[in-house]
Amino acid sequence: MAESMKSGFYPGSFDPLTNGHIDILERSFQLVDRLVVGIGTSAGKTPLFTIEERHAMLTEELSPRAKKANCAIEIITFDGLLVDAAKNLNVQLIIRGLRNGADFDYEAQMIAMNRIMSPEIEVICLAAGPDTGFISSTLVRQIARMKGDVTPFLPSAVAKKLIEKMAE
Ligand code: ADP
Repeated sequence: MAESMKSGFYPGSFDPLTNGHIDILERSFQLVDRLVVGIGTSAGKTPLFTIEERHAMLTEELSPRAKKANCAIEIITFDGLLVDAAKNLNVQLIIRGLRNGADFDYEAQMIAMNRIMSPEIEVICLAAGPDTGFISSTLVRQIARMKGDVTPFLPSAVAKKLIEKMAE
């Protein structure tokens, strides 16, 4: 890896990947040369999609977008501390999306504590886009369970997989 190469780490649950995540990801491709997307496995939540399904979903959606933006992409799974994962990946920048005050309060606390543990890791928070900032994976799952239309909130292949999952 070249010394001057900028690497970023975008962690999340991606259960499922939404248009809100895509917005943050596409903007991140412009900020770094290498983006590692981390699917967290120990968030204390029971996921709807398995790690393997989410990994496949992210690979399918993100590989062509990253290629177009000329950004190297790696999709990984991780557990344990975010800052430890970032260090192991040789990444100095963590990227998060901010939708609202609740996201801000959570991130501000996390950033402060992470900073004490690992001052060398910087966190940047991107303000959610105006067209996608209201989307949450949790609400999308709830809408799908109630047989609502999820297509406005998801990439079309993800919406298809979610509808299939609900039919299982
Ligand atoms: P987590 O379980 O860490 O909240 P998510 O998959 O929900 O994982 O989100 C990963 C990251 O993407 C977080 O920084 C979150 O705030 C951000 N994010 C989620 N949905 C949106 C959205 N609609 N717009 C912008 N950022 C978002």
